[in-house]
Amino acid sequence: MTELLQRGRDYFSSQFGTAPDGVWSAPGRVNLIGEHTDYNDGFAFPLAIDKRTAVAARSRADRMVRVASSSFPGVVELSLDDLDPDGLSGWAAYPLGVAWAMSEALRQEGRDAGRLTGVDLALSSDVPAGAGLSSSAAVECSVALALNELWGAGLDRQELARVGQLAENRVVGAPTGIMDQSASLLGEPDHGILLDCQSLRTEAVPLGFSAAGVGLLVIDTRTSHSHADGGYASRRRSCEDGARSLGVRSLRGLGPEDLPRAASVLDAQTFRRVRHVVTENQRVLDTVAMLRTSGPAAIGPFLNASHVSMRDDFEISTAELDLAVSSAQELGAIGSRMTGGGFGGAAIALVRNDVAVRVAEGIVQAFARAGFAAPHIFPVTASAGARRDC
Ligand code: ADP
Ligand code: MG
Repeated sequence: MTELLQRGRDYFSSQFGTAPDGVWSAPGRVNLIGEHTDYNDGFAFPLAIDKRTAVAARSRADRMVRVASSSFPGVVELSLDDLDPDGLSGWAAYPLGVAWAMSEALRQEGRDAGRLTGVDLALSSDVPAGAGLSSSAAVECSVALALNELWGAGLDRQELARVGQLAENRVVGAPTGIMDQSASLLGEPDHGILLDCQSLRTEAVPLGFSAAGVGLLVIDTRTSHSHADGGYASRRRSCEDGARSLGVRSLRGLGPEDLPRAASVLDAQTFRRVRHVVTENQRVLDTVAMLRTSGPAAIGPFLNASHVSMRDDFEISTAELDLAVSSAQELGAIGSRMTGGGFGGAAIALVRNDVAVRVAEGIVQAFARAGFAAPHIFPVTASAGARRDC
């Protein structure tokens, strides 16, 4: 039994005084490339990481849902009859939001959500929260998988991803796309997940990292800017404005060949936002094609170009993220970029294993020289998606 699993069972027992029916877990993710493309119906290429959130769960005879998390004090409890998407807040909005979203999904299939039974849920996690590794999706997807089974809901993994997204959009109020939940539910060891967010087709693509002697470092800058939420929403609005002005349903309807027309129609700022999304979609496809023909050591230029695009066109980087990326590149990384929604959080560097320690140490020194707080740097490997552990 893994340490997290044991911890999850023990924590459940300490909160609820009995053993759980089972333990489910779901990983965080890093996005290799394809940022702010998911809500534009575009392409993204994330991977599930070897840091997970476990939920130990037990069915109840009544309609109460009780949730506890080892990261937060207290037990929050609510009847399924009182689940109001506008009335939930704080960390418990994530697990309770999933319960609400899943009962909504079942209701839409014409099933009687009034007969669902309550559940006790205890969360334990080793996904750092707020670091851009989608601890939120790890919570949503582990809870969605547990409820799917305890409620006999029979939803497939793509439907579960939409349940998690609905919880995040409607209950938490974050206008995020489908990427995080898809990666957490569909991840596979040593594979990236190519997502087509328009058709919702997904494909596991071998990364070949260990065979090529390379790996991914996450550089968590441990910064998070207060305008992150507003910044995310305003970027999303710019993309919608750009699509409307150019007469397409979403920016997926545009290719690189449309950029000259976009430049003549849009104001300068909206054009830069659009150019990021259009070129980023192309970089995702180029990265996957290059992986297949030449292996991971050849994809660095796409990662580097993605960072420049996020820094200059989408304007979601920060001084800390730029320094993490530029020092990784100077220290010999194959490629590096900020990852996640931006305005703080983490960067990734693809490095040869024999220089990984040197790159990590060099970045720490660069941060110290710049007077920034020490970053938290750790390797991640592409890992299995959400599953029942016991
Ligand atoms: P990210 O997903 O990048 O880590 P978010 O702001 O989207 O950052 O989600 C972080 C939030 O998710 C936390 O503030 C908390 O509300 C919730 N969360 C994450 N992990 C847990 C956990 N183990 N238990 C309870 N809530 C969690
Ligand atoms: Mg999140």
